[in-house]
Amino acid sequence: MRIDEILTRDAGPGDPGPLFSFEFFPPKTPDGERNLQDALARLAPLAPAFVSVTYGAGGSTRARTIEIVKSIKRDHGLETMAHLTCSGATVAELHAILDEMAAAGIDNVLALRGDPPAGAARWSRAEGGLEYSHELVALIKDRYDFAVGAACFPETHIEAASPEADLQYLAHKVGAGADFLITQLFFDNAVYVDFVARAREAGIDVPIIPGILPITHVGQLERMTKLCGASIPPALERELRAREGEPEAVVDFGVAYATLQCAELLAAGAPGIHFYTLNRSPATRAILSALRLTATANTLA
Ligand SMILES: Cc1cc2nc3c(=O)[nH]c(=O)nc-3n(C[C@H](O)[C@H](O)[C@H](O)COP(=O)(O)OP(=O)(O)OC[C@H]3O[C@@H](n4cnc5c(N)ncnc54)[C@H](O)[C@@H]3O)c2cc1C
Repeated sequence: MRIDEILTRDAGPGDPGPLFSFEFFPPKTPDGERNLQDALARLAPLAPAFVSVTYGAGGSTRARTIEIVKSIKRDHGLETMAHLTCSGATVAELHAILDEMAAAGIDNVLALRGDPPAGAARWSRAEGGLEYSHELVALIKDRYDFAVGAACFPETHIEAASPEADLQYLAHKVGAGADFLITQLFFDNAVYVDFVARAREAGIDVPIIPGILPITHVGQLERMTKLCGASIPPALERELRAREGEPEAVVDFGVAYATLQCAELLAAGAPGIHFYTLNRSPATRAILSALRLTATANTLA
């Protein structure tokens, strides 16, 4: 089913409530493959609205992304979304990938410019390829019937000239046909609330789904936030520092923090939560299970 249709289903007796989704990445090793399969087996029973599979930096996982998306649909019966980037591909190659996705029965594509390949400081356009994600959105909408999502950055994209310019280009992306947006990870809900308000003022009227990373490892968090430019609020950083050398305490705290963060976002009107699972199940499983219980309790109250 198309994600834009899931997002716009009428509220009513059959209203499924907020949309929860999980993001996975194509593993590179047999151990990584086992982690992914284990995470899928444990998270599938939570019946997410969809799961998405990333596209390797520099366009490195083309075949794997499609293969994994197909297998998730086939083996777990879950709705899926394939990420696709402009990286390392000509327009003709992008058409070929999209043809393959359509033939595989994929309904949803997240259209991105792409991260620079490992070791490269900057992203650069492939000869005969596209420069920006709004061009990819337009290319997809011109020829295909996919529901198209795109990325957005509550704390402004790391290469953007200014927050205003970034928002203006985001409006182009939506104007080109993006049906919904998923945010980069963030840890301060005020950042999301302010961003949504600015986006609405800029005329961006599509659903904006917050992307949430449950913190499970401080070093990994620092690497990821450095790469994407997300900030760690000082109070959060203090709590993490207080647990230095206690990996289990970090995981417990990360689950507690993300659960509260998600509950507050949903109460503030977010249409759902997209979890960056990093191919691990325990944290996302605990958070979503607790959120669902709370939602049930609220309904029964
Ligand atoms: C939910 C989510 C999923 C992701 N999945 C992947 C993935 O699977 N694979 C991967 O490689 N990366 C992924 N990324 C990372 C993403 O590819 C990078 O953050 C990338 O640097 C930006 O992608 P974009 O699609 O927002 O780019 P764009 O929208 O093209 O924007 C890139 C930069 O160009 C600027 N810009 C846009 N249009 C113009 C214009 N017309 N003129 C001048 N400047 C312009 C923007 O302000 C921004 O600074 C994901 C990010 C998110 C939030």
